[in-house]
Amino acid sequence: MPYIQSSIPSLSGAGSPELPEITEPGTVVILATGGTIVGVGKSGKSTGYASGVLPVQSLVASVPDLNRVAPLAILQLTNLNSDDITSKDWIGLARVINTLAENRLVAGFVITHGTDTMDETAYFLNLTVKTDKPVVLTGSMRPTTAISPDGPENLYEAVTVAADPSSRGHGVMVVFSGKIISARSIRKVHTSDVDTMSGGEMGCMGIVTDSTILFYAESSKRHTLRSEFDVSGRTELPKVTVLYFHTDADPELLKAAAALSEGIVIAGAGAGEYSKPYLEALRALRLPVVISSRTGDGIILQSAVLSSGTVAANNLPPQKAAVLLRVALTKTKDFGELVRIFGEY
Ligand code: ASP
Repeated sequence: MPYIQSSIPSLSGAGSPELPEITEPGTVVILATGGTIVGVGKSGKSTGYASGVLPVQSLVASVPDLNRVAPLAILQLTNLNSDDITSKDWIGLARVINTLAENRLVAGFVITHGTDTMDETAYFLNLTVKTDKPVVLTGSMRPTTAISPDGPENLYEAVTVAADPSSRGHGVMVVFSGKIISARSIRKVHTSDVDTMSGGEMGCMGIVTDSTILFYAESSKRHTLRSEFDVSGRTELPKVTVLYFHTDADPELLKAAAALSEGIVIAGAGAGEYSKPYLEALRALRLPVVISSRTGDGIILQSAVLSSGTVAANNLPPQKAAVLLRVALTKTKDFGELVRIFGEY
């Protein structure tokens, strides 16, 4: 069965996926990758379940009148816990979207995805899909077998946003708990709350309630059609390691990470700070190093990094600074260029 694929091999390899036939104008394509939204556990419980179990068709069937919002085309790409999604899967997913976006009958896309790494996949797609058609990620915090699963409503709202012409041109978005949040700002901020998806201090772009969609804000950062990145010729991304600074953090780990990776992201304390031994070890490294913050919000200015020669992550959290660095390294290792890229995206 196609939905049991453990990755997206037919997309990330040489072959092409079996794309759904699209016959009606305004079609929303649902691309399923797994997550709690199709998870199964003990009846009535919200924990101790398995993520990525049911085929997405059964989720779609559980949402009343979903096919009245828009004609639907469904493609089950894989069925994973999102912690098992790889950069190969990202590239495969971007390829499917870029191919189907050329079909004039397609209005937009909904990607069902686990919440754990949804922010990373969303930001990767924001940098690499070449369309202004809405690309919307959604998921859920409670499995299908919980007393009150949040997946069906999130899916309904995601399809509503993806089908609507007013959603075009905003870049990749996450729709969750009635909020529309840009892929640039989104991050998961709570281990169990159904309102776990947040844009942090950048807030949300808009709201969706039943069939009403209202946009209030835009991300001014480059995305989709204005992005310079094209990873379509690759099968995976350069390896980048994220290191979390903490009291007594061992600088030897910097050397180990440098030996294993093409770039490093530091999750620094406060405004991207770290100890003197860390600073010394960092200065000896000869690979791109990006400085982010473990605080969860706020900016790191290029003019204020502790070690010149390191790149400020702007206000990207560590895991998303890693996504941008991996994509950027497909183009350049030049320090000045990396500084420009972290300012513009
Ligand atoms: N571990 C799950 C996943 O990311 C969590 C979720 O979907 O909410 O696939």
